[in-house]
Amino acid sequence: MTRKMLSESEGYDLLRKYGVPVPAFESATSPRAAGEAAERIGFPVVMKIVSPQIVHKSDAGGVIVGVGSKDQATAAFTKIVDSAKEYNSEAEITGVLVEEQAAPGLELIIGGKTDPAFGKVLTFGMGGTLVELMKDVTLRILPITEEEIRCMVREINAYPLIAGYRGMKPRDEEGLVQAILAVTRFFEEEETVVEFDLNPLRLYEQGCLAVDARVIVDDNPPKMVVEDRVEIPLEYFNPRSVAVIGASSDSSKMGYAVLHNLLQFPGQIYPVNNKRGEVQGLKAYRSVKDIPAPVDMAVVTVPANFVPMVIEECGQKGIPIVVVITAGFKEMGETGKALEERIMAIAKGYGTRIIGPNCLGLIVPPRGLDTTYVHESPKPGNIAFISQSGAIINTVVDWSLAEDIGFSAVVSVGNQSDLNFLDYLNWVKRDPKTKGVILYIEEIKNGKAFMKVVEEVAREKPVVAIKSGSSTKGQAAASSHTGSLSGSYDVYMEAFRRSGVIPVHTLTGTFQVAEMCASPKGYPQGKRAIVITNAGGFAVLSSDYAERYGIELIDLPPAVIDELNEFLPEFWNKNNPIDLLGDATDKRFQKTFELLAKHDDLWDIAFVVGFPNLVLTSEQLANEVVRFSEQTDKMIVGTLLGGDSMQRGRKILRDRQIPSFDELDFTFRVMGRILWQRFR
Ligand code: ADP
Ligand code: MG
Repeated sequence: MTRKMLSESEGYDLLRKYGVPVPAFESATSPRAAGEAAERIGFPVVMKIVSPQIVHKSDAGGVIVGVGSKDQATAAFTKIVDSAKEYNSEAEITGVLVEEQAAPGLELIIGGKTDPAFGKVLTFGMGGTLVELMKDVTLRILPITEEEIRCMVREINAYPLIAGYRGMKPRDEEGLVQAILAVTRFFEEEETVVEFDLNPLRLYEQGCLAVDARVIVDDNPPKMVVEDRVEIPLEYFNPRSVAVIGASSDSSKMGYAVLHNLLQFPGQIYPVNNKRGEVQGLKAYRSVKDIPAPVDMAVVTVPANFVPMVIEECGQKGIPIVVVITAGFKEMGETGKALEERIMAIAKGYGTRIIGPNCLGLIVPPRGLDTTYVHESPKPGNIAFISQSGAIINTVVDWSLAEDIGFSAVVSVGNQSDLNFLDYLNWVKRDPKTKGVILYIEEIKNGKAFMKVVEEVAREKPVVAIKSGSSTKGQAAASSHTGSLSGSYDVYMEAFRRSGVIPVHTLTGTFQVAEMCASPKGYPQGKRAIVITNAGGFAVLSSDYAERYGIELIDLPPAVIDELNEFLPEFWNKNNPIDLLGDATDKRFQKTFELLAKHDDLWDIAFVVGFPNLVLTSEQLANEVVRFSEQTDKMIVGTLLGGDSMQRGRKILRDRQIPSFDELDFTFRVMGRILWQRFR
């Protein structure tokens, strides 16, 4: 892979080919030639250093604008070359570019980079020398449509400067869209271009002009192929018999904990131990090959150097899928990597599929299958949790027990040498028990394939993801402005948005979102919301949070207010949030809910926010919320604020699968994440 920066004139030539507007220019290699070129182009001109080693020309004193005569151009040549030499004595100077001076305009940036996982990415935003400071950019993974480009343009904070702000005339938005489209075509079709930025692109009332082009090419650019993966048969994850290779009675061994967790499995369990005839009270076999019946799954805990032999035996036995918990492979450097390749080659030879290695294993609570060494097996439920970190599974499972959350599946993906995220997603998509999916992602190898698969899953079941690595630390200094403007985390977020995945930043949040979307009413149908409460303070806070998290509180139509007036106390606030006042009984809630259900064409989400008091118990309120939810197919969300006295109400809502929360900010934040995904 050899990367090199094209000269600005080479960049301009390429861009012009695709119809991107660039200034007239000529290259000069002597002061005299520069003067003559300037004369041909017409004054004033801008002159710039041409050197493959100088990336930021202004920093090197390599740009002079406003050159007004032939003499000035001759002098500018020498000045630019001298400053550049002073800036970097090593730099190879190939000449000076003389170009038409563009009129002042709004300075924007169009950039592109190649993301290791998702391929070519286009960025757009406010340009000029303050780009890093402003960080007002947006990005898209290619390919994109013209419509998406229009959205990008409108998305930046500075959009009013394009549309016309405070008496300023609107600029040529359509011309800009067409220029970005041309740039996109350039980036897509020029395969060797891996990175570029046009900064600035000047935008006028009529037209636009790119007055700087930095283009990086690679003669061996990375290729992204979207391989189609064969679906793993569902029965592979639903074994009737499991062998534990390395099963042990010694409680300090991994093989002990794994067998221990498997004891509750209703199918056949076969401990395999080459030294003992009995393990944890079960008959043990010296090798899987000695087991007198078919084995559907094997779990391997023996040390790494024994794994190749064990996989060989599993292959001979015809075991379709093997969970390799053992660590000491790819993650341990070259020797480990070679060992991993060896076991993969053996497995492939027999058509045996591998989970891991270096993983915690697999848990399918509805089937009583737990091949891991978690402290205590999780409860059955409807959420699948697929994680790239074993430690996080341990933590989450422990926490889920206290929170009474259940799982349809828990998978620790490990090194993903054979089965990877895509295969597990394909599984839970088809698994009837799974109603929602949570992903913990550190890194994805083939982003394009991931997007394709996860999009299919998200169409049927909500997918919530938590992605580690949002900090920019550790990102190598990028060779151009654009590189540092959008890190790989931003690209992941965009990939999630595009493929229907809801990104959440906390583990608790992922569960709340997944449960909310996995509830029978599914996703909210829109972002128009109403709030019904018995607390004035929470009415105000609800408005604050709704605004902060992008939830639209509707205005109640006068006719609805009139209807409410008929049974609400005279001084109710006549507004949304609807404050039923502190003395509201269940009857008042009931009547209000009935009326709002009748008018459910006006709204998409109803938040019921209640606090405990003497005239309304948490059970009464919860029962009214349940009735309300039965009267409409719109989403009802309960927020029962308070301590123990509200627990009973929350339990009623939970049992009826009505999303409920015990903190107001969290309620709106979680809903905001979902709406961001669905209705941005
Ligand atoms: P660099 O980004 O490498 O420092 P540029 O080519 O972007 O160098 O030039 C620096 C600045 O000079 C630009 O941001 C722009 O404001 C101005 N400039 C460059 N070329 C022109 C031009 N042709 N017409 C008008 N202004 C220009
Ligand atoms: Mg520039």
